[in-house]
Amino acid sequence: MRLSRYFLPVLKETPREAQIVSHRYMLQAGMIKQSSAGIYSWLPLGFKVLRKLENIVHEEQAKAGHIAMLMPTIQSADLWRESGRYDGYGEEMLRMKDRHDRDMLFSPTAEEMFTDTFRSYVKSYKDLPLTLYQIQWKFRDEVRPRFGVMRGREFLMKDGYNFDLTKEDALHAYNRHLVTYLRTYERMGLQAIPMRADSGPIGGDYTHEFLVLADTGESEVFYDSAVTDISLGQRDVNFDDKAQCQSIMDEFTSLYARTDETHEEDLFNAVPEERRRVARGIEVGQIFYFGTTYSEPLGATVDDGKGGQTPIHMGSHGIGVSRLLGAIIEASHDDKGIIWPEGVTPFHCGILNMRSGDDACDAACEDLYAQLTKAGLEPLYDDRDERAGAKFGTMDMIGLPWRITVGPRGLKNGVVELTSRRTGESEEMSPADAVARIVDIYAGL
Ligand code: ATP
Ligand code: MG
Repeated sequence: MRLSRYFLPVLKETPREAQIVSHRYMLQAGMIKQSSAGIYSWLPLGFKVLRKLENIVHEEQAKAGHIAMLMPTIQSADLWRESGRYDGYGEEMLRMKDRHDRDMLFSPTAEEMFTDTFRSYVKSYKDLPLTLYQIQWKFRDEVRPRFGVMRGREFLMKDGYNFDLTKEDALHAYNRHLVTYLRTYERMGLQAIPMRADSGPIGGDYTHEFLVLADTGESEVFYDSAVTDISLGQRDVNFDDKAQCQSIMDEFTSLYARTDETHEEDLFNAVPEERRRVARGIEVGQIFYFGTTYSEPLGATVDDGKGGQTPIHMGSHGIGVSRLLGAIIEASHDDKGIIWPEGVTPFHCGILNMRSGDDACDAACEDLYAQLTKAGLEPLYDDRDERAGAKFGTMDMIGLPWRITVGPRGLKNGVVELTSRRTGESEEMSPADAVARIVDIYAGL
């Protein structure tokens, strides 16, 4: 993409309504535009990152055999009356009437819809296990929408639902989700710690929230610092292997890590003092096993193979896809702007022409652009007729992890400059070497 032809409305002034850095940078970098409280338009740069996050989520769900589909955002109240949640859900549910005076709502989550789909088609235990999911917009009329996409009213969520014959199988699904979520966050350059969470009115012991540590997080968290030393890395996981999934679950959840809702002073004090941490975190996901809570009222049963009907065991599992953009920026920025991790960056590298209009500079930039594009990468070429200072400012704000700077002096010696946005370190090298380095950096991603 050539910046002169892109739509990147970078703001010069600091938006005053933003209280936290991710919100401020997303507005300044031209990623989102507020439409009304907690509702945003996704401008091209923001939309590009959002799509990347979605792709990572899809790829990791597919590895575990989970199946993508799409439910309507506008749903009939009837189904929610059947489950008993229509009245219970409260003010967060956006309710509306259609022209025939029928009660409708904008889905805040989709347990009912998925359970209904399941009961319409699946009749036998032979069709289990099954995990269906979607990435779809949700609406919750939050009391205090704030912090930009972190607590929106309209937000993008991945929500998945497992359908199993037994509790044991459903707990395997729960463990599978934990593994896929850890993978997903790691690919996004984030460390998200699974923490024992509160299961709320539904009850049950099985729920974990995933928290990204950040001072601006809304949750208070208590953990053993040893949990931050574990990661999945490149480990091979066989998702059908119950024992392996269970052992990963145990490894990641046996150390003390809890939110304020489940915090227990005595247990926390048993952690060696030098490893006790109290901090703040952003909830980027949650997994849940709730048994037959929805399958019983909605009559989602299967033939158990022994002549009887049995209600299925379910769980639901969510990732806050749009909130993740904010979380990534909170975790990765400096005072000049965003620093995208390579796995989610909207463009792979910037090309900065220090002197647009100079024949040698223009030709070298065009060549870099062509080579990188040919290698399957997406460079963003700042070909605008602007001062170098303004170009550096834009590049730093939008946070591409790598930048190639082309100037007349370097070119005389046959070199360009390759700069890491994260460290600020620059290296001079031939344009061909710069392309090779960028290609190499992204080869494994
Ligand atoms: P919270 O406690 O932050 O209100 P929640 O526990 O009600 O969230 P879930 O029902 O667990 O949310 O939804 C799954 C995920 O969706 C959450 O982990 C979070 O990342 C994301 N999410 C929930 N509410 C919002 C919101 N208002 N804006 C953006 N993302 C949200
Ligand atoms: Mg939650």
